[in-house]
Amino acid sequence: MELFKKIFAPVVQYYEKIKAEEEERKRREDLRKQRIAYIKTNGKYISAVRNLNNSIGFKNIESHPRFKRTCNSKAQLDNFNIDNHMLLTIEDSSDYFTGMVKAVQYNRKKHNQYEEQYKKILYNGYNSKYYSQYAVSTVIEANELQTIEMQECKKIKKKPTEDFTIELIVCYTSPQGRNEYTRTYKFDCAKIEYYLNEYQKLQKNKESAVYQRQLMTPKLRYEIMKRDKFKCTICGRSQKDGAKLHVDHIKPVSKGGKTIESNLRTLCDICNLGKSNSYDPYGLN
Ligand SMILES: [Zn+2]
Repeated sequence: MELFKKIFAPVVQYYEKIKAEEEERKRREDLRKQRIAYIKTNGKYISAVRNLNNSIGFKNIESHPRFKRTCNSKAQLDNFNIDNHMLLTIEDSSDYFTGMVKAVQYNRKKHNQYEEQYKKILYNGYNSKYYSQYAVSTVIEANELQTIEMQECKKIKKKPTEDFTIELIVCYTSPQGRNEYTRTYKFDCAKIEYYLNEYQKLQKNKESAVYQRQLMTPKLRYEIMKRDKFKCTICGRSQKDGAKLHVDHIKPVSKGGKTIESNLRTLCDICNLGKSNSYDPYGLN
């Protein structure tokens, strides 16, 4: 028996050594997993990024909204003027488009702030001694923890929508649906901003005095005089009495008056001169 033990002792020792090594390896692996799990929930950089995520919110933006337009004829499709159409579409839903552009501008601005804060957390705040608290015994282990924490920060880093693509699908289907033609136009935020700008210019122009004066056509002038029986609405004189008749804006265009029948009247040159550019909102002039 003694001899037996003596002969096999090295073999037993060998297996015990392997077993001990295996146990040590397992212990270290468990420790490693624990550290990783701990850092993923309690790591100071991850926690700081989470706090940042809670402090800066971004707007949700529909990234691919679609609009569809149907044409009545092939010619209409072929002559489709995209600029005019977009201006009309914007007129229909100007609040929607303004909202989209504002949301993008908001997200871009907030994203800059977010990036600055994120960089501060990760670069300025980095401390190599920090990982020694997690019972790491080697530099490799510390580096691994650091890599994992940085990766985790990247994973939870917010990526706000900073642009969108509006798709406009224009289609025409021939009678009985024999042929179907579609065209797709795409617009990003910058393009929509351009259209909104053009639309606002048009609106302003419509409201401007210049535009209102342009609306004063000879035909309309005649209609108003006819309505007023070719007499000055203040003094009652007509051309027969030697009066020179004008059509006058009751509320002057320079004060926002519109060229519409209810704001127009016939005046003789004398009454018109006396009126000048004054306007009494109670209709006394
Ligand atoms: Zn008069």
